[in-house]
Amino acid sequence: MGYISTLKCIECGNEYAIDENISECLHCGNILQFVFNYEELQNKISKKELDKRIFPLGVWKYQEFLPINFYPDPISLGEGGTFLHESLNLAKELGIDLYLKDETRNPTGSFLDRGTTVIMTKLQRLGIENVRCVSIGNFGVSVAAYAAKAGIHCEILLPRDGIDIGKLHQMIIYGADFVPETREISEIEKRAEKLTDEFFYLKPTNPYFLEGIKTIAFEIIEQLNWYTPDRVIVPMGKGSLLSMIWKGFKEFYKLGLINSLPKMTGIQSEGCSPIVNAFKRGKKHATSIKTVKTIIADLSFVNPSDGFRAIQAIQESGGVAEAASDKEILEAESLLAKSEGIFAEPAAATTIAGLKRLIDDGHIDKNEKIICVITGLGLKSPEAVKDMLSKIEKAERLIREPEGRMIVKRIGDTKLRILEILSEETSYGYEIWKELEHRFGKTIKVPTVYQHLSELAKLSLVKESDLEKANGSERKYYMLTEKGKKVLEMLKKLF
Ligand SMILES: [Zn+2]
Repeated sequence: MGYISTLKCIECGNEYAIDENISECLHCGNILQFVFNYEELQNKISKKELDKRIFPLGVWKYQEFLPINFYPDPISLGEGGTFLHESLNLAKELGIDLYLKDETRNPTGSFLDRGTTVIMTKLQRLGIENVRCVSIGNFGVSVAAYAAKAGIHCEILLPRDGIDIGKLHQMIIYGADFVPETREISEIEKRAEKLTDEFFYLKPTNPYFLEGIKTIAFEIIEQLNWYTPDRVIVPMGKGSLLSMIWKGFKEFYKLGLINSLPKMTGIQSEGCSPIVNAFKRGKKHATSIKTVKTIIADLSFVNPSDGFRAIQAIQESGGVAEAASDKEILEAESLLAKSEGIFAEPAAATTIAGLKRLIDDGHIDKNEKIICVITGLGLKSPEAVKDMLSKIEKAERLIREPEGRMIVKRIGDTKLRILEILSEETSYGYEIWKELEHRFGKTIKVPTVYQHLSELAKLSLVKESDLEKANGSERKYYMLTEKGKKVLEMLKKLF
């Protein structure tokens, strides 16, 4: 492409030829960034040119700003081109001029699809057949979907704990292979780095992936009819979303398409806020933290790889960084849904929680035009909603009932009756067999009763209690476990 001059390390400044297929600086291991030839771009791109494009709003409308051509056969699912809602109710409540960039509308429900379309197109053109990534959330979901579209085999190394259930369901349905890991995510990343097989290891710091993200900035400008907002607020995990949106704004500025730049404002969860901490202490680099104390897995990076650029962008733009508690974030999620009809996941609602804090602390001028980027869809992490609604009995029942039916379906009616019999007193196989027929009209064979008991024991719902000698043979007694009692209690409440 004639529009790119070089691939440059953000830390040591080493430069690489753009056709070198490398993912990070060979000298210092840091992130590489494409540097564009702005004079060439200026000859091609103008407001008029962008206005008349037949491409709909979306990532590929800005193909001259991407490191790869749209033609031929891009791996696209229709990413980008998301709504910029003018907030009415929430804006009124907060007393500000607020817009919401609704990235929940992307193909897999998060902004990451903007980057994945670019890198997956590149990988397919390189003839890559296997791709591997490490992810606990939306990055893995997006890679799985676009790999499916590209016909590339996808493997995800997945930390065992903390994944949002909706995201796991998405990865499964897109057909990705999993390798569950017990280690911390940073340890898994180190392991993935060392694997030498035919897989391409795709990291969220890949320069092709990152360039797609900045199109959020281009869309915001066009949607505001070529006006620059005063402030853009984004959630921060690794820091790349903020740094790439900033890169996008600066590129439009360099081309003379806009006359000013917005203040970049980044929000993290209090339980994992290395970028915010560093910014507040006036440091250039995010200092890694030891423990994570937040439920928001998608923002939990103890050592954020793009922290340096995020801090630089916030400082350069005159913005600010702030953290919000999990409680404030969940309240913001609910507020956003109730006031604007947008169901965001907790990570995405951090922007609203952070905005509220900044208003309370007097950091925000009420005349500012503010954009909050809502990064991902709420259905991805229904656990957060369950927590929120646990106090509302009606809602809890509606959520629990289908789960109860699933359990009955899985264990079956006979096992349920056995649990009921054992809830009254401990008993043994032959006695249970008689009770099943007498009380519930179930005519099965005695060995089948023992089979059921052994299966219930495997599920940890019953356990052996006593061994009694009777008529020269041994009689094994069974009782309910605590788990068995709970399951039975829950099912009795429902049916
Ligand atoms: Zn370097």
